[in-house]
Amino acid sequence: MIKSTLKIFFYTRYFNVLSGGYTLKSAKPKKKLAIVTCMDTRLVNFLPKKLGIEQGDAKLIQNAGNIITEDVIRSLVVSIYLLGVEKITVVGHTDCGMAAANFEDVRNKMVERGANPNFTPDFEAWLGRMTCEKRNVIEGVELLKTHPAIPKDIVVEGYIIDLESEVLERII
Ligand SMILES: [Zn+2]
Repeated sequence: MIKSTLKIFFYTRYFNVLSGGYTLKSAKPKKKLAIVTCMDTRLVNFLPKKLGIEQGDAKLIQNAGNIITEDVIRSLVVSIYLLGVEKITVVGHTDCGMAAANFEDVRNKMVERGANPNFTPDFEAWLGRMTCEKRNVIEGVELLKTHPAIPKDIVVEGYIIDLESEVLERII
């Protein structure tokens, strides 16, 4: 019985390693790092590789335009107070769809499909108004550095990745 259980354990572990599947036991990030970035499809695999991040290293929090929303703050609070995060890195990118988004167009499409765009008092702010990718990162970092829920000993840095040159630049 013990022998066969052990066998299953080792086979499962071996299979997971081979398939690149789940093998880690702890949810605590080894690098004590949380990364806030955009949901842009071009960042999938590319950004973690660029940052030298592997499975188990960091918390990855993504949304449209890497905007520091209340939900991002909520995830960061859990990351800091329960999971040992000591550093937050905000990473924006060039050619972000949110910087070019036409909110009126979104509003019209919502109406066309029967949704009510008046469900929130400030639709544009809710969707994530952004005019410049760099400015957005700087404002996000400043917000985190002064947010009452984020302790002052947390290191907060901001970067921009150029999707064409693939250069990652620290901007704050
Ligand atoms: Zn983006």
